[in-house]
Formats: sequence, structure tokens, C-alpha cells
Amino acid sequence: MSRFLSPTLEAVTPYTPGEQPQDQQYIKLNTNESPYRPSPAVVAAVSEAEVEKLRLYSDPACAELLRTAAAHFNLQPDQIMPGNGSDENLFFALRAFCDEAHPLAYADITYGCYGVWCGLMHIPSHIIPLKDDFTLDPADYYGLNETIVIANPNAPTGLALPRSAIEGILKANPDNVVIVDEAYVDFGGESCIPLIDQYENLLVIQTFSKSRQLAGARLGLAMGNAKLIADLNRVKFSLNPYNINRLTLKAGKAALEDTAYFEKTCAAIVETRSWTKQQLEARGFTVLDSRTNFLFASTGKKGGGELYRKLKEKGVLVRHFDAPRITDWLRITIGTPEDMEALLRALDEILEG
Ligand SMILES: *Cc1c(COP(=O)(O)O)cnc(C)c1O
Repeated sequence: MSRFLSPTLEAVTPYTPGEQPQDQQYIKLNTNESPYRPSPAVVAAVSEAEVEKLRLYSDPACAELLRTAAAHFNLQPDQIMPGNGSDENLFFALRAFCDEAHPLAYADITYGCYGVWCGLMHIPSHIIPLKDDFTLDPADYYGLNETIVIANPNAPTGLALPRSAIEGILKANPDNVVIVDEAYVDFGGESCIPLIDQYENLLVIQTFSKSRQLAGARLGLAMGNAKLIADLNRVKFSLNPYNINRLTLKAGKAALEDTAYFEKTCAAIVETRSWTKQQLEARGFTVLDSRTNFLFASTGKKGGGELYRKLKEKGVLVRHFDAPRITDWLRITIGTPEDMEALLRALDEILEG
């Protein structure tokens, strides 16, 4: 750090994203991207004419995308706000609903950015341990009188709570916002979107990065009561009114409209997931019951760090988190069937050796 850095940032530990190697060709199973290309409708929407319009600012209200999203999710446009990735919407939500006197509650094993943003904005973290089997006990979140964020399904465990469990948490915290991060919901979770009209304290966050093939476009949606969404817009228009670029607005609309492609690719991932889980279990791995596009797996035979390194040597990238409770575990993104066969071949070589 330079001698000019604000002392308020000295203690911040930034998030470490999964590797995005630019040199070697890896089988990339480390950042939960889709192995499939975006819908052909997306490719057509990002036309030369649209590129030429890049000289003009994008629509700060994102009206066209909001109309499409509202129809798609059966909501009103004022119940939705697009973000530059769901990360931005989560950040806006923490900025809007937490501060030094209003902590954020979240699980000990969950998405790492929640803690990073708390550090950046001096929000106290109330970290609630998952149970020994990595499940979350909803009762741990009753009557907290704090803002809550729950990834459902959770990452990196892949485990999901039923909608009724989240509803219990919403009821038990009527005076606090409950943020449900649904990054992986399209792979077998139960979305809380149908609860939005009933619970004014519910904020649902979804992303186009995992199930809609647009990680590089950076697009997410925050959905909730219109007043909550107005609060998020208050933050957005105080920071970066043109936060979604023109090409991404077009790409996102096209991706939402192509429901057939979305359903086909989600179904392919779910099928490959179930095949891969069986294959890993046949090799002695413990594999959690994933409702996401990744598997969380461990073997008694080798530590997670060693497996990660040896797989990388063989050209397969997976994610290992060097955190005490999960150091023996790997998070493995579901790729194409061929990707998963290559992973299993590499694992067989490593475990025999
Ligand atoms: C990937 C992920 C995000 C971030 O998604 P972007 O839309 O790409 O910013 C947020 N939350 C969880 C749990 C994720 O896994």
C-alpha cells in the first residue's frame, strides 16, 4: 500500500476471486460459470448497431430490461433493480440497510464477499456457524434485530433451504431486511420471489452469471417491495447512475426472453451434476446434496489443498478455500460431460499415485 492510503482501509482484506488464467488452456471448474455459450438471441442482440450506440450513455432507468424482467418474474418494474452483477446489488443493499450501528448477520461458511463489504463499510459482522453437517438452522436467525443475508442455495456448500424456512426467518424479523442471495436458485432451489408481495422486508438477489451464461456481461437483479428498491436506487443514483452498459442491457433482455435455451442448459447442468456426484461417490468422496451448478466434495485420502494443486498441474482448475472448517473440501463447478470426464480421469491418476 502507498503512504497515501486512507487508514480506514488498512484493515480491509479484499476478496480473492477464483483464478481467471489468461495464459494456459485449463478445464475451468473454479468459478461456477456456465460451460455453455450464451443464447443465440443474446449474440444477435449485441449487434453492430448497438455497438455504434456506445457513444451514448445507457438508460439509467434500464426501462426496457425492467419491463422484460417484470413480465418474466410476474412483478412490477418498480419492484426490480438491475445491478452490475449481483455483487453490486448486494453491496448497494448493505450500504442501504446496514451501518456501524446496524450489523449484518450471515453464516460462517458462505459467500466471502459479505464479510469483505462489512470490512469496507465498517459494518459489524454477526457470524452464525452452520451446523456440523453444514446445514443452516433457521431458528438461529429468529428475532436477531439485524439485517440478514442468506445465500440460498448456499455457496460453497450447495445446500438449499425450502422457501418455508426463509418465510419463517422473514416472519421472525419483521423490522429487519432479509436479503436472500439466489445466485444458484435456477439449478434446483426454491425462489422466494413469490413471497415479495407478502413481506416488505424481503430482498431477493439473482444473477445472470451462473444460469444465464453472462458472467462477463455483469448483470444481476434485486427484487423486492417497491420501497426497498427505491432505497437501492437512492444508493445507485448517488454512486453510478449508468451502472449497466448498453450491450449488457440488450444481452440481459434477450437472455431472459429465451426461456427454452435457459431451461435446456439448466437441465443439462442438473443431469451432469447428478452423474458426477455418483462418480465421485463411487471413488469414495463425500459429496453434499447440491442444488447448484457445483459440487462440494471431500475425500479422506488427500487434503483439499493438495488435490487442488495436483488437479491444476493436470490442467483442471477447481476451487479450494483455505478456511478451517472446509480445508479438506473442493468446490467443483459442473462443466460439460466431457469436462467432468477429464476431471475424473485426473482424480483417478492423482488418487492412484
Ligand atoms: C457468483 C455469486 C455472486 C456474484 O455474482 P455476480 O452476479 O457475478 O456478481 C453472488 N453471490 C453468490 C452466492 C455467488 O455465488
